[in-house]
Amino acid sequence: MAKYTPMIQQYLSIKADYPDAFLFFRLGDFYEMFFEDARKAAEELEITLTGRDGGEKERIPMCGVPYHSAEVYIGRLIEKGYKVAICEQVEDPAAAKGVVRREVVRVITPGTVMEEKMLVEKENNFLTALTRHQDRFALAAGDLSTGEFYVTEFAGETEDLIDELVSFQPKEVLLAPQLSGDSSLREQLTVRLGSVVTVLLPEQVPSRDRMEEQVSGQFPNYREACSTPITLEVTGLLLGYLQRTQKRGLSHMSRLSRYDTGQYMVLDESARRTLELTASLRDGKRKGSLLWLLDRTATAMGSRLLKKWLDKPLLDRGEIEERQSAVQSFVDDLILLEEIRDHLRGVYDLERLAARIAYGSANGRDLVSLCRSLKMIPELSRRLAGTGCDALQAVSSRLDPCGDVSALIEKAVVEDPPVSVKEGGVIKEGFDEELDRLRSAQQDGRSWIARLEQREREATGIKSLKVGFNKVFGYYIEVTKANLRLLPEGRYQRKQTLANAERFVTPELKERERSILEAEEKSVELEYQIFTRVREKIAGEIPRIQKLAEQVARLDVLHSFAEVSQRYRYVRPVIRTDDRLVIEEGRHPVVEAAVGEQEFVANDAHLDNRERQVLLITGPNMAGKSTYMRQVALIALLAQIGCFVPVSRAEVSLIDRIFTRIGAADDLVGGRSTFMVEMDETRLALAQATSRSLILLDEVGRGTSTYDGMALAQAIVEYIHDQVGAKTLFSTHYHELTQLEEEWERVVNVNARCVEKEGEVVFLHRMEPGGADRSYGIHVAHLAGMPQGVIQRASVLLESLESRLETAGTQQLDLFHFAAETASARDSSSLSGAEEEVLRSLSQWDLMNRTPMESVQF
Ligand code: ADP
Repeated sequence: MAKYTPMIQQYLSIKADYPDAFLFFRLGDFYEMFFEDARKAAEELEITLTGRDGGEKERIPMCGVPYHSAEVYIGRLIEKGYKVAICEQVEDPAAAKGVVRREVVRVITPGTVMEEKMLVEKENNFLTALTRHQDRFALAAGDLSTGEFYVTEFAGETEDLIDELVSFQPKEVLLAPQLSGDSSLREQLTVRLGSVVTVLLPEQVPSRDRMEEQVSGQFPNYREACSTPITLEVTGLLLGYLQRTQKRGLSHMSRLSRYDTGQYMVLDESARRTLELTASLRDGKRKGSLLWLLDRTATAMGSRLLKKWLDKPLLDRGEIEERQSAVQSFVDDLILLEEIRDHLRGVYDLERLAARIAYGSANGRDLVSLCRSLKMIPELSRRLAGTGCDALQAVSSRLDPCGDVSALIEKAVVEDPPVSVKEGGVIKEGFDEELDRLRSAQQDGRSWIARLEQREREATGIKSLKVGFNKVFGYYIEVTKANLRLLPEGRYQRKQTLANAERFVTPELKERERSILEAEEKSVELEYQIFTRVREKIAGEIPRIQKLAEQVARLDVLHSFAEVSQRYRYVRPVIRTDDRLVIEEGRHPVVEAAVGEQEFVANDAHLDNRERQVLLITGPNMAGKSTYMRQVALIALLAQIGCFVPVSRAEVSLIDRIFTRIGAADDLVGGRSTFMVEMDETRLALAQATSRSLILLDEVGRGTSTYDGMALAQAIVEYIHDQVGAKTLFSTHYHELTQLEEEWERVVNVNARCVEKEGEVVFLHRMEPGGADRSYGIHVAHLAGMPQGVIQRASVLLESLESRLETAGTQQLDLFHFAAETASARDSSSLSGAEEEVLRSLSQWDLMNRTPMESVQF
């Protein structure tokens, strides 16, 4: 250490506390990085690596970014999953003895971003913490940018934990020290969720008492929310990390929401993916997903809440019906719907505004946005109160327009304030006496100077004489060279000579200048103080603003449901607590939107637990089987989030979990084959489904040989029928399975109807009772443009297989047996004379009594 200069020593001692972050070390107008940080940052940010003498013989690697554009560089590092510790000068360099004191004022990490430019408007930015004790996990999730904080605990495996985490899409995950050795968990978090994982060290975990003290200081309701040691621990870990990195009060994070996973429909990662709830399967983008279709929200808060509702469908009939009745009122009164939409559009992102105000990073524009939003509320509230709908009236009564807050902002802040809060021009006239006095002093000075120009022109007779200002010399009087002779000697003091003019000052002018500049400096400083005071005062009202934000978001989602329902002619489903799931003329919401209502063929579905528990769906590929299965699940899900559904009529029993096994997804990361994934997902459904679950199994068994596959498929259907009792949609192209309907009382056949027209197969996409009698696989291959030779040969083979099947009277095929049979059939039918000759000599060749060489030559 001693060999380094004092500044580098200071750098190193601070850096030692932040080994996992880039240390942005403030030096004048730059943030500098040194040593390894500098090398890595130069590479990642593509900036020049330089060096600096630091006491060693070799120069110390260094690179830097300008202070005023640092946000862009920080954003890039965060995007790549790094952390950045911001180290500022915390004393006035002029007053400092020796090296200026510096401290880290904040650590920015992927899960603690506050900057508007680094956040996605419609998405939360969650940081989560995980801990485990025996078989119980606890999870806490906080979003610093909105102030939300959730906690839950549950028993289960790592898989269940990942399923729960998926809905948060956490940018960063903190692991309790006892989970640090779980490398498979870490891998799943990074690879499957794309989260940055931070493992907490044992010394970063305070004692239980200390944790309780911290948690109770932050969350007034912590006792109910953290009723068990494990929930208290996970809340404490997350909060502690936020406090360590943010180093300031987090007053906007004062509400701790406890939830239980059993309160909602369970949707595991596979179900979310295959049902394309928030991302399409094709490219993983929002477009083409159910969320994309449903999102007609007018505010970013509404958009974020919609995703949360979609992630957690309800199991409580009363709650669902409350949402439905609000949607109904909007659908019944389209003028109301339009008015509400227009009002909502005028409301800015209250959650993030509130967070920035509490955090101390809100500027004048943010306050004006808040004020404008608040002013939309009284009219919104009045409109809802007059609807006669209980649910909407309840929302109305909870809308607090925070009139005191908007009045304060209106009085204090100008209408169009600048971005910076430190350069003046933010506070309105008449708000603060002292500020007004300073401003009028500036104004007086300026008008004195304006008058001076006139006066001196008259006194000297120089018409082109002018008074100007520049930053270096301040105010001056300028006279062109040609006019200098008119100037009486000694009238002014010479200050600066230009090519064709001279600039002068007078003691009186300098005196005025001093008082103007002084007043200006003072007023800018005072404005900043006033602004911070106003901001702090509003920060005291944050809980009210947050409650308002919550209601507005809720209203926005309900309005969005109504917009979608109205646009696509959705219908309010009847919510049932028994086992009936009846869908009449159901449609797949997203496919319908893509192909058009006219083109989409609606289908019925009727399931229950007594007579129609398992629907066995047969029909060729491309006939619409998986679309049908998905649409049944999506209709149930839409019903349980409170939205109307694409049907002509529906009764929906509450589903506790949806299991899906659809499509061929290789788990490349997990190193499992398609078949293995298929078996694993099916196993999960068999093990965990209850009689209230819905299982979708699409062509299970196709990943292995025909024999194996058919045997497995049948055994699975039987098991679900006898042991599990869950409502199930089971599609298969083994039409032989349709015989199960006769053997098992709750299995019902349905088939995707196709017709043949002039040798071509036409898919009607219509589900009809009964089983399909053939697969049309060759037709589909033909449609796909397979070479004609292959199609013809396959047709010949199929015919032969089918006739063999008839004569043998068996249900199952031995492919090898048929392969041999067809080869011999081919012998006699289509071989040329020469080929026959070759076969004859081959069959007569006495292999056992010849040498290998003789056989080769033969
Ligand atoms: P399968 O699962 O039987 O192979 P899919 O469900 O994947 O068939 O459907 C194949 C295609 O047919 C889909 O991409 C969709 O465009 C279309 N389709 C499916 N169902 C319908 C329907 N009910 N109405 C109109 N088109 C449909």
